[in-house]
Amino acid sequence: MTMSPVRPLRRRSLLTGALSLGAALTALGAAPGRSWAAEGVPVSGCDVWGARPPKSPVKVLAARPQKIIVHHTATANTVQYGQDRAFALARAMQTYQMDTEGWIDTGQHFTISRGAFVTEGRHESLAALDSGARMVEAAHCTGQNTVAIGIENEGTYISEEPRPEQYARLVDLCVRICLQYGLRPYQIYGHRDFNNTQCPGDRLYALLPQLRADVAARTGGDPTAPAWPVLRVGDANERVRVLQCLLVQRGAAITPDGSFGPATDGAVRAFQQQIGAGVDGIAGNQTWNQLCAPVGEGAGGEAVRAVQSRLSGLGFATTADGVFGPGTAERTREFQESRGLPRDGVVDALTWSRLLS
Ligand SMILES: [Zn+2]
Repeated sequence: MTMSPVRPLRRRSLLTGALSLGAALTALGAAPGRSWAAEGVPVSGCDVWGARPPKSPVKVLAARPQKIIVHHTATANTVQYGQDRAFALARAMQTYQMDTEGWIDTGQHFTISRGAFVTEGRHESLAALDSGARMVEAAHCTGQNTVAIGIENEGTYISEEPRPEQYARLVDLCVRICLQYGLRPYQIYGHRDFNNTQCPGDRLYALLPQLRADVAARTGGDPTAPAWPVLRVGDANERVRVLQCLLVQRGAAITPDGSFGPATDGAVRAFQQQIGAGVDGIAGNQTWNQLCAPVGEGAGGEAVRAVQSRLSGLGFATTADGVFGPGTAERTREFQESRGLPRDGVVDALTWSRLLS
């Protein structure tokens, strides 16, 4: 859950305190309301677990998400596995996030309790998932809240794994989200892939390759997550040029010359600061995952120029005009086919990573 490496202990104690209160008020969860079975996954909506209304209307975006991000709540690994506990957790998290964090509503889209009960987080998340075409803007991962579905898993998974029942529910929910939104298994990430945080804990993070494989077994598709080059001061190559183009696309005032000097170092650090990554001036996993947004037909700018120059460099000749037209889309499809990737003409994270390999 943590947005940065912040105060896990403080947060845990606050939540635990709130839960004690919540557990004493379980009757709140008994109100009738909307539940919804997602591909065999029962999800209790906000009205079922007794959510407060949001402080202001939640923002529903007319776009599908690009990925799923897995979190842990950094709360106690409780042995209370009942639905009442799941509902109390949902209320405690909403209270904490609205009253202490100051957010308009719960931060994440969905929560899975230790007892494997799934609750809706931010209002409208279920309806948006149902639509298959919209998502709710959330607050679970800096830099990704308009493009990623956030799933919180109750517990702390630094030295312990989630319960098998909870993990199985996570697989179920990811399958449903992937099918509903057309996501691929490699588009399942952990919070630490984007922000400087230990979330979702070493043990749950280490389960993510298995999670992608378990989801792929039911949805089809490639479970292999993108692998990124590590670039730092002193490097000089075409990958550096791509990095520089992507930084320019995000507002950096540098010249893409393929040489990683002090100006690029400064731009990487500024970007890392901005998106809540670890600030070290080294372009690695978090930096690339935040920079490499999908680009496809109709896109323009330096990111497109970077795609075009890499395609040309790899033998798929394209004019580097910074406009993603039908020609660039066709060259992209040819490149994807040559690398065994889905031939959709969209440069998503996996295609980006192959352009950089
Ligand atoms: Zn998190």
